[in-house]
Amino acid sequence: MKVEIKNLTKKYGKKTALNDINITIPEGSFTVILGPSGSGKTTLLRILAGLLYPSEGQIFFNEKNITNIPANKRNIAMVFQNYPLFPHMTVEENLRFPLESQKEGNLFKRRTFSSSDVQDKVDETLKLFKLEEHRNKYPSQLSGGEQQRVAIGREVIRKPVIFLFDEPLSNIDARLRYEMRTWIRKLHGILKTTMVYVTHDQSEALSLGDTIILLQDGEIAQMGPPEDLYDEPNQKFVAQFIGNFPMNFLKFKSSKNSVSLVIDKQILLPKNLQKRILKENITEGEIGFRAESIRELDPNKTVDENQIVLECSITDSEKILDQQVLTLNYKGENLFFVTKTKKKFTISQKLSVLLHSESLYTFTGDNKRVF
Ligand code: ADP
Ligand code: MG
Repeated sequence: MKVEIKNLTKKYGKKTALNDINITIPEGSFTVILGPSGSGKTTLLRILAGLLYPSEGQIFFNEKNITNIPANKRNIAMVFQNYPLFPHMTVEENLRFPLESQKEGNLFKRRTFSSSDVQDKVDETLKLFKLEEHRNKYPSQLSGGEQQRVAIGREVIRKPVIFLFDEPLSNIDARLRYEMRTWIRKLHGILKTTMVYVTHDQSEALSLGDTIILLQDGEIAQMGPPEDLYDEPNQKFVAQFIGNFPMNFLKFKSSKNSVSLVIDKQILLPKNLQKRILKENITEGEIGFRAESIRELDPNKTVDENQIVLECSITDSEKILDQQVLTLNYKGENLFFVTKTKKKFTISQKLSVLLHSESLYTFTGDNKRVF
């Protein structure tokens, strides 16, 4: 199912939850809607489901305008954080239920299942979800992961035209979350049904989505493949939101012939970057650089004009598996530095780091990225 959202606005009273949203979701894709709490993710998903109606704008399923069609006619699967199974039914009965209770009048139903089909479908689903040995158990006899597989299986079995997930994994422990994430991705590979997945967790979004739609205050901040949002953020908000470590920022100011850091006017930006900033008449802004892109200064190598050196001291260090995460103090500013070196660092030790212009992002005063 291809989904198009055109000029969609949703207001709750005076509060604008979504503002003029335009999205095309290709048939068979896995799209993640990402954003902080309150950015409008659930509102958007509920509008797609037909549980809420937009204040303005239209929604199309395969070119058909379904804006005013209610949820029960859309043949959509919705998976939430908590999706209770019927406790008095076995796994098999839970799976059978949606097929036997399916009603006529669904606009996008591919076909109805005859009663002789039902057992085949149930068996097929038990197999796909690796639940065969649990078919006669009740939900209370299953682990959390197994219960979730039954719950999703119950949606899969009725062949919805689109799956909508609203933070389905946010209440479960890290290990199971990781397992379920891989599993949902695999399920998408098998079913090839369009999936729209809401999360506030950027690492989940990066690992799942073909496309990420990042929302901020009801508007699309940036939309694209995960690598684009990580490598080419279009504004400061995106650069801060995407990535395992917060991006570092330092303010700069231009004078007539040069561009220097505000915190230390002695430090000029890399030569090539200064040229571009002056050419564009940018008077002030910020440079941003990822914790992963910082290098420790090698005293035996010369520093070229497109690099800058910051003399810092270490205020904190943390080891995460093969990585060391250092918090550096640079003239009162905190910078994060992630390195894979085996070298031991000590707190309050001096450390000079090197930034190369290629790993610097430049933002103007209004937080837009320019280069
Ligand atoms: P998210 O899922 O990204 O956390 P929501 O879509 O739930 O965001 O909410 C978006 C905004 O709309 C928030 O500011 C929220 O407070 C507001 N909102 C959501 N539902 C309602 C409602 N029923 N009435 C009034 N305001 C609402
Ligand atoms: Mg929500």
